[in-house]
Amino acid sequence: MRNLYIYNTMSRKKEKFIPGNNKYVKMYVCGPTVYNHAHIGHARSAIFFDVIYRYLQHLNYKVYYVRNITDIQNYNISSKNGIYNNIFTNHAEWSQYHINQYHNILYKLNVIPPSIEPYASGHIVDQIEMIKLIIKNGYAYIKNNSVYFNIQKYNQKFIYGNLSKRDIKNYVLSNYKNKEKINNLDFVLWKNDNNSELKWNSPWGLGLPGWHTECAAMSIKYLGCNFDIHGGGNDLIFPHHEASISQVKSCYNNNLAKYWIHHNMVVINGTKMSKSLNNSVFIKDILCNNKIFQKKSYNAMSIRLFILKNHYRNIIHFSDQNIQQSYQELKKLIITYNIIKNLCPSNKSTLNFDQVIDQCYNAINDDFNIPLLINILFKISKMIHSIQNKENCINDIDLEKIQKTYFTFLHDILGISLNIFNENINDFIDLIINIRSEIRSHHNYKYSDFIREKIKKLGIEILDSKNDSKWNLI
Ligand SMILES: [Zn+2]
Repeated sequence: MRNLYIYNTMSRKKEKFIPGNNKYVKMYVCGPTVYNHAHIGHARSAIFFDVIYRYLQHLNYKVYYVRNITDIQNYNISSKNGIYNNIFTNHAEWSQYHINQYHNILYKLNVIPPSIEPYASGHIVDQIEMIKLIIKNGYAYIKNNSVYFNIQKYNQKFIYGNLSKRDIKNYVLSNYKNKEKINNLDFVLWKNDNNSELKWNSPWGLGLPGWHTECAAMSIKYLGCNFDIHGGGNDLIFPHHEASISQVKSCYNNNLAKYWIHHNMVVINGTKMSKSLNNSVFIKDILCNNKIFQKKSYNAMSIRLFILKNHYRNIIHFSDQNIQQSYQELKKLIITYNIIKNLCPSNKSTLNFDQVIDQCYNAINDDFNIPLLINILFKISKMIHSIQNKENCINDIDLEKIQKTYFTFLHDILGISLNIFNENINDFIDLIINIRSEIRSHHNYKYSDFIREKIKKLGIEILDSKNDSKWNLI
């Protein structure tokens, strides 16, 4: 019997995974705040938890996977950057546009949709009810029609900082910037706001719920207040997840989740990706050839493999060179799959296939060591090539086992699509663009315009500059 071990941020240890129910696993993952296009950080989170979702199903669990959409807190950002006012008529349209884009990108990255995808704006009543209960239990206070969580009061009964391992005694609690708050660390549960386009009625007047309340209310609504896995990026450990735990504990004296899984961040050419630095790498740009730092477009499976090659608890260093390397590796893995499909068995095996199959399971069971799993798939690839080259042989039983294992791990669990045509589609587009550039360079604008119009009907926009042409998905 193989056991899965998960590094639990709560204990800072690898723990044997034992779900609350031996047939069902309940998992909540913090989804995106939809104020812009999906970037490589969104992709990392969605792809990593997608592999967990797929693997738990492979282990025959029925998985209730909830991943939310934060569509409330984005309002201020949209107003600031002007996108909202210039292009969209209202917040709902603007928000829906980015949600559609996010889904479209995840579809390209072969990410399976979660079981439930709740929107914060659709759960205002649940959030108000949770805030009312926190006030009733004495862990919140009202100031100027806003509601704040009282950390000091909470800390008299529970411990605030268990997940992030922060001792609040080390914080000068009275040194606050927001004069409405009693203490610095107190967080907003309900923000009084009469002027916002997005506002709801509440017992405390018109306003909006705080971000931390959104995830706490939606997770317990769908999964109860003691579910199996809570996930997200490690930048969410404090204060977001700490705040989620404290709200649920103050309402129901429950722990919210048993296993806390956090992935690390993505670094772009040595710099952390952030809104303030405006250095986000959008997936839509990597899939086309319109980004300055990259020489060509990349297919979605190269990006997926690149993300998975990095251990989830390590930082990902994103660069053009790294994705190019993943593209080469992807091609090797797909070629091996096609060789395995067509291999002819011998009457004996000269290699130990049971051992490599065990190694695949041991890797993923050891806290989702996906980089090691990918290395073992390359080891299988070498074995397969040695059989193809008649240096080794394989019997029919081993061949069936290795075919099944390779396909299961690469396609079903890692979610790498093996459709060669889809993998090469961007190369075809690049080729058409290059042919058209050649036609343009000979001043044959009639045919170059013809190609541009035809390809536009297929959803691809060609952007001409003086020296070259780039393309973009419309
Ligand atoms: Zn969240």
